[in-house]
Amino acid sequence: MQIRTRFAPSPTGMLHIGGVRTALYSWLYAKKLKGQFVLRIEDTDTERSTKEATQAILDSMEWLGLTYDEGPFYQTERMERYKEVIKQLLNSGKAYRCYCSKERLDDLRSKQLANKEKPCYDGLCRKHNPDDPNQPFVVRFKNPKDGAVTFNDQVHGTITFQNSELDDLIIARSDGTPTYNFCVVVDDMDMQITHVIRGSDHINNTPRQINILNALDYTPPIYAHVPMILGSDGKKLSKRHGAVSAMQFCDEGFLPEALLNYLVRLGWAYGDQEIFSITEMANLFDIKDINKAASMVNPEKLLWLNQHYMKTKKPEEIAKYLRPHLETLNIDTSNGPELTKVIAIQAERCHTLVEIAEKSRYFYQNVSSYEEKAQKHLKAEIAPVLTEIKTELQNLANWQASEIHTIINNNAGKLGLKLGKVAQPIRVAVTGGTVSPPIDITLELIGKEQVLVRLDKALTFIYNHASV
Ligand code: GLU
Repeated sequence: MQIRTRFAPSPTGMLHIGGVRTALYSWLYAKKLKGQFVLRIEDTDTERSTKEATQAILDSMEWLGLTYDEGPFYQTERMERYKEVIKQLLNSGKAYRCYCSKERLDDLRSKQLANKEKPCYDGLCRKHNPDDPNQPFVVRFKNPKDGAVTFNDQVHGTITFQNSELDDLIIARSDGTPTYNFCVVVDDMDMQITHVIRGSDHINNTPRQINILNALDYTPPIYAHVPMILGSDGKKLSKRHGAVSAMQFCDEGFLPEALLNYLVRLGWAYGDQEIFSITEMANLFDIKDINKAASMVNPEKLLWLNQHYMKTKKPEEIAKYLRPHLETLNIDTSNGPELTKVIAIQAERCHTLVEIAEKSRYFYQNVSSYEEKAQKHLKAEIAPVLTEIKTELQNLANWQASEIHTIINNNAGKLGLKLGKVAQPIRVAVTGGTVSPPIDITLELIGKEQVLVRLDKALTFIYNHASV
């Protein structure tokens, strides 16, 4: 059997990480079994669907590398097909026109509620159907009255719904437009989906969809309903918990691998392994191993994973993802050290690409001001040794960290000072702050010319601020 999975988001809000995880699981399962993965945009709710949300879905899939073999399909482009299947069900007597007025339905509902019954359509038009073309009507699916629908959910096990609990679902509104559950059914059938992996919030839709598929003589797919992702406080995930939309993680400087690795583990485990390459995930993942319980976000773990990938991936690869963040901060890297060298030294000190970008400005731009708390290192008594070091650096032919280290170390030694006492004013002079990678490497990367310019600038600052 050719495995075919799909991701079917509704573009009614930004694609959030719960959706991305569903997409990932569907994608991995198709990859693992050499099947195909389909992207379908469920945009029939035209009031709530937006172009921006659709674009965010496409952008997120691309950023994360969740490639699809077919699609994107848009439900709004398949209306004729849905109408055709509605006709087919009407002709075969498996659906019927319902002429009940809104007043009658409201009345029915109030009575059922007053009797403490579950509100549902009573099937009046199922029995005597006047077929009056001049009257407005909806089309309802003739749900079986007896028996039960049972399916073997790959996550939750056997789930059974009594047909008596399911009323005759409206499949076409009075304006002829098909309804949500119906479109899903036609699409899963036409797209020959074998495995539906989706959020647990759809469990209640599944028996209805199975009944309609049966009425269409189509064998229902296998279902796997993935539990929710909750906030770190166990409550429904929302903006309060930090980033929730996929592209926000991109903007905040996370690598796709890190987010995917994080998401695969939120709800699935393979022993106590934490790090999974994409290939490894695809080989090891199985829907049968998805957790039954909801999982909670763990921002620290994501930061840890992100740093892991920033440190272990090739700096050339990281550079590709880092550049847009540098551009956002107006940091032009065309003059200055090779970006890969900066990445190699900064990755272990930072948790996100944004952090690397923010902490690397001084490699490419002169210091515009000294941080308030750093200014105490630029004192008059340090001027002579800074001047001496500047001269020695100026004469240094081989601009390398080891040589730079020797110069600073020797000067500190001559004055009986610890290396840090001399290194810190130099650090402030060249970076504007008190934190950077080791001073010798920092100077090597900033480059001779800029280092000399910045030492001069710091000396001027010292003279201007020296107390008399
Ligand atoms: N469009 C639905 C959603 O975004 C998913 C439907 C499905 O996967 O069957 O929640």
